[in-house]
Amino acid sequence: MATLINCRVCKNTVSSNAKLCPHCGERSPEPYIDTLKYGLIGFTVVIVVVLILAGLLNYIL
Ligand SMILES: [Zn+2]
Repeated sequence: MATLINCRVCKNTVSSNAKLCPHCGERSPEPYIDTLKYGLIGFTVVIVVVLILAGLLNYIL
């Protein structure tokens, strides 16, 4: 689904489907959003798993 995003270089609105910003020619106008989002989700998952493992270890030991 195409949504409008802001180009990370020129801040103009660009379709999320666009491979290239039509305003400034930036090749991938939206990578920061996805990288940040998935990085944050991955980080949260790691923290939760570590906390669960720590909790289990407390029960076992
Ligand atoms: Zn741009």
